[in-house]
Amino acid sequence: MTDLPASAARSTWNASDWHEALVVEAYAETPTARTIRMRLPAAAALPALVAGQHIDVRLTAPDGYTAVRSYSLASAATGGILEITVEELTDGEVSPYLVRGLDVGDRLEIRGPIGGWFVWLDEEPAPVQLIAGGSGVVPLMAMIRAHEAGTNPSPFRLLYSVRSPEMAYYRAELEELARVSPRFDLDWVYTRRAPSGWPHAPGRLDLTRLAASVQPLGSTALTYVCGATPFVEFAADALVRSGRDPARIRTERYGGAEGG
Ligand SMILES: Cc1cc2nc3c(=O)[nH]c(=O)nc-3n(C[C@H](O)[C@H](O)[C@H](O)COP(=O)(O)OP(=O)(O)OC[C@H]3O[C@@H](n4cnc5c(N)ncnc54)[C@H](O)[C@@H]3O)c2cc1C
Repeated sequence: MTDLPASAARSTWNASDWHEALVVEAYAETPTARTIRMRLPAAAALPALVAGQHIDVRLTAPDGYTAVRSYSLASAATGGILEITVEELTDGEVSPYLVRGLDVGDRLEIRGPIGGWFVWLDEEPAPVQLIAGGSGVVPLMAMIRAHEAGTNPSPFRLLYSVRSPEMAYYRAELEELARVSPRFDLDWVYTRRAPSGWPHAPGRLDLTRLAASVQPLGSTALTYVCGATPFVEFAADALVRSGRDPARIRTERYGGAEGG
């Protein structure tokens, strides 16, 4: 495998500068999404990552045209490796290349980490309710992984809305965690097709399902909602209308018109 040039390895990390990262692994997460793992320059002094942050990725065409998109980090940068998961939007400019065009050994320009609000800190004492639509689960997965790697005893609960079982990111890891961890619970919402025998008909997240999922952790839980804009607005508005303190609800919108 090609390594990064010595000039990249010598660079000092500045979150607002662009840096080259080497793609070391890429695999299908679902039929339409891909997880990409990148290695940073060996000697770069990357600032500590906080679960929930994102990076910017910049692509440059041969004619100099550039496109920049944001992607949440799915985990801490263990061993200098950054992980993102990208959903392909067939009419998109950047995501089709990241999902189908990029190869292991290619380099990507990135900057970050970015974000200080939609983050979870290990010293946070409150229970945490996570609500994800589709690819919006990525930063929440970083929080779940950070929580599981640490000793914070507060319970975490994830409500994850996906179109169908095979469209769920990190399914095996999430289901295994929900099975073995006393600190993590998981609720699925299937919008188009549910597994056979599932007790609920497929359909978008509604007030009943939302209320049932958030009720166990109580109204003081710190809540993170992430996904396409209409999904996030529905969930956050419903929580506020049900009496939740807006200051306890943190949202991140990925844009677009489709939810999970
Ligand atoms: C903070 C932040 C973190 C993000 N993290 C992730 C991530 O972890 N994984 C990920 O896959 N994406 C993530 N996104 C979305 C990502 O930045 C791009 O917007 C997305 O990949 C589409 O880029 P594109 O160039 O392919 O499409 P574009 O060419 O920008 O858009 C193509 C069409 O798709 C629509 N569209 C744009 N975004 C979405 C969307 N999210 N859902 C549905 N339709 C959309 C546009 O309105 C347009 O019609 C994040 C966005 C933000 C702001």
